[in-house]
This record gives sequence, structure tokens and C-alpha cells, in this order.
Amino acid sequence: MHPFSYFRASGADDVNKALRDEGTRILAGGTTLYDLMKLDVENPVRVVDISGLAPQPIRVENDTLILDSLLRMSQAAENETLRLRSPALREALMLAASQQLRNMATLGGNLLQRTRCSYFRHGEPYACNKRQPASGCAALEGLNRNHALFGGSNACIAVYPGDFATALAAFDARVEITGPSGARELDLVDLHREPGETPHLETHLRPDEFIKAIHIPLTKAARSSTYVKIRDRESYAFALVSAAVGIEMEGEIVRDVRIALGGVATRPWRSAAAEQALIGRPLNDDTAQAAGRAAFVGASTTRHNAFKTELGARVVADALMIAKTRI
Ligand SMILES: Cc1cc2nc3c(=O)[nH]c(=O)nc-3n(C[C@H](O)[C@H](O)[C@H](O)COP(=O)(O)OP(=O)(O)OC[C@H]3O[C@@H](n4cnc5c(N)ncnc54)[C@H](O)[C@@H]3O)c2cc1C
Ligand code: SF4
Repeated sequence: MHPFSYFRASGADDVNKALRDEGTRILAGGTTLYDLMKLDVENPVRVVDISGLAPQPIRVENDTLILDSLLRMSQAAENETLRLRSPALREALMLAASQQLRNMATLGGNLLQRTRCSYFRHGEPYACNKRQPASGCAALEGLNRNHALFGGSNACIAVYPGDFATALAAFDARVEITGPSGARELDLVDLHREPGETPHLETHLRPDEFIKAIHIPLTKAARSSTYVKIRDRESYAFALVSAAVGIEMEGEIVRDVRIALGGVATRPWRSAAAEQALIGRPLNDDTAQAAGRAAFVGASTTRHNAFKTELGARVVADALMIAKTRI
């Protein structure tokens, strides 16, 4: 671990000022950043600790739920509005990590967690373009069971690992960002970048910007929703495949449907193809399975991860049938 200086923020102004200095990183719950510093992946010159700042209370404005980025994952998961009006988001939080981690980890830090690709985390002697630009990608020909089927490139196929962002992608969430030039909003699906030729650039946030809050529209589809996560062990594990799904019916016909996939893409992945396969049709086992298969058309598989196409199609179909019971 390299030497770094530590600064404890006592207000938003402190954070904004500190971020103007190059090499400064925000420290929220620390459950990702400290790990990556110990692994020598991240070497900030200075960390600005925001863990002592109080989050704004959770509120609803214009049928939109607003969650402060400083909320701990467990605090957000306990919220009654989230439980009743967006169960998929609550489930995505509850199925992530462990209770102890959720008590520490913030929503902002959760969105910005980095890939769990072992070559990225452990470095030498393995090549990793994300860790060391232009060094190569050991996963392309190496162990790639946990790697991406969508959004990858010849430079990187690392999966974006977060559950919450996957669920947010399904429901048109937006992130509120602050920085030296003021506030702006970004669709959650536009927060993370695909790797392309520059896998070390992971988001569209500028280094001096800060995620302030997450805005979640409380739609009918969000109310009848679920998050299904398949992993190698029943708890305390990242998704092999997951699906966030919400539906709105008009009689027997699907009026609106939201489908996002986790564990299979380089960023939170909304599946327009799966959604289009269902809109205007009845929802039953056959149409749910067809939508699941549609979600994986065009998947780019590697030596060890082709099993995810069949598994993923089933996860989407199961999630749709669970969401139907919540109408
Ligand atoms: C063993 C283990 C298992 C896990 N399992 C899962 C899982 O199953 N599913 C899942 O989704 N996650 C899982 N996680 C990840 C965990 O949820 C994240 O580590 C956590 O959410 C990060 O939040 P934090 O507040 O601790 O972030 P930190 O570690 O403090 O920060 C993470 C990054 O975000 C930046 N940052 C933090 N807040 C902001 C902000 N407001 N604006 C701008 N930048 C910010 C930091 O600078 C840093 O780069 C697991 C983690 C561990 C260690
Ligand atoms: S998949 Fe991406 S993160 Fe993993 S080794 Fe290749 S370049 Fe690095």
C-alpha cells in the first residue's frame, strides 16, 4: 500500500474543494476502496472521508423516490416505500454482499464498485488492460467463466458486478451529480461506460464530480417487480446471472415491461429485445421463456461462460412469472 493523506469532510463544501486536487478519491463505506488500495490497484494521493456526513432523509417528489448517495445499503433496503413500490430494488440490495457489508457500504459506493475479474484484482504476472492500460487481457484466453457476454471488446470482457445498479437500469433511474460546474443528472444506464479500447475508464463521471442522489420513478412496472439472482453459493456471492424485471398489464396483455440483466455484461444491461418480445402479448410460461431467449440473442460467449445463455434465459423467464404474481 502506498502512503496517502487522509481528510475527514465535515460538509459538502469540503468534498467539492478536496475533489479539485488531482489524485483525491472519495472514501464512503470503504468496503471497495480499501480492498483495492491494499491490492495496489488504486493508489490515491489523498482520500476524503465522507462517512461522517449525514444523508438527506429519503423522500418522494412527483412520484419519484429520492435516495441520498450516502445512505447505507441496509438503510435504503429498510425503507417502506422502496419495499412496497419497487420490490426489485429492495431485493437487489438485500441479495448483495452480507448484512455487515450492507451496514457499512453506501449507495454511491455501491454504484461505483469495480469489477471482480481476478486478473484485475491480483495483477502480476497477469496482463490486464483495465489495471495497466495497453498491457493485454489475460481473461480473453484464460479463465472467463464469470466474464461478460454483452458489451465487451477485444480489450476487456470484465463484468460489472453490482446488483443495485442492474435493478436501477430496469426502472429508468437517474443519478444526481454535483461538481465544480454545478449539478447535473444522468440516466443510470449512461453512468457506466463499455470498455472499448479504454477499459480503465469506467464511468462518465469526471474526477471532480460526486454522486449526490439517485432518483427512482415509482411506476406501475416498478411496483410489480422482482430481482432474481443466481450465484455459486446461496449468500455472500456476486451474481453469475441476475435479472431485474417489472411488468404492467392491461387485462391479459403486457402493457409495459422492464428487463435488465446482471452478471453478464460490462455495465448494467437493459434488454430492449426481451422487452419487445413481450409488449402487446399475454404473459405465460411460453412467452416468458421466449422473452428470456430473446434477451440472449447476440450474446458473445467465451470458452467458459456459454452456459450463461441458457441459465440467463431461465432466470429472465422465472423473474417474469414472479413479477406477474405481484400485480
Ligand atoms: C466480500 C464482498 C462481497 C460483496 N458482494 C456484493 C454483491 O453480491 N453484490 C453487490 O452489488 N456488491 C457486493 N459487494 C460490493 C459492495 O456492495 C461494495 O463494496 C460497496 O457497496 C461499496 O460501497 P462503499 O460505500 O463501501 O464504497 P467505497 O469503497 O467507499 O467506494 C467505492 C468507490 O466509489 C467511490 N465513491 C463512493 N461514494 C461516492 C460518491 N457519492 N460519489 C462519487 N464517488 C463515490 C469511491 O471513491 C470509490 O472509488 C461485495 C463486497 C465485498 C467486499
Ligand atoms: S477482462 Fe478486463 S479486467 Fe479482466 S483481465 Fe481482461 S482487461 Fe483486465
